[in-house]
Amino acid sequence: MKYEIRTLPARKRIALVAHDHKKDDIIDWAWFNREVLARHELFATGTTGRLLEEKLDRPVRKLMSGPLGGDQQIGAMIANGEIDVLVFFWDPMEAQPHDTDIKALLRLAAVWNIPMATDRATADFLMTSPLMHGPYDTKVPDYTGYLTRKIPV
Ligand code: PGA
Repeated sequence: MKYEIRTLPARKRIALVAHDHKKDDIIDWAWFNREVLARHELFATGTTGRLLEEKLDRPVRKLMSGPLGGDQQIGAMIANGEIDVLVFFWDPMEAQPHDTDIKALLRLAAVWNIPMATDRATADFLMTSPLMHGPYDTKVPDYTGYLTRKIPV
């Protein structure tokens, strides 16, 4: 497969999302990792962002609340190369009204090969990676073949 390089900057744009039963977890996690997070730019879905801002006492760029379109906004930002890391504590024990949006967001993070953590342990490993502190070349599949495919019309 052919790849294109997308360079993630040293100061990463991190998107944070947590479902309601995971909000305690993400707040606790963010506090534990506050020194690393301080070196990066934070984005979040509406409610998660509000709670994180209060706890960390620093600005978080808040998008819409997840079920109202926030997950899709973050997905679009990933596709546009505007988000470098996704931390998404989704709730495996409860169906969400916006299940389709959640699946779409997880899919786009995989399409664009950005680092993604969906639980605290992985998110801790991610924050302690030396790759968080410098530019990183992520290899994105070259989708030219897909974009130029022949459609019989
Ligand atoms: P919220 O959205 O941060 O606005 O609660 C999270 C989600 O995607 O459910």
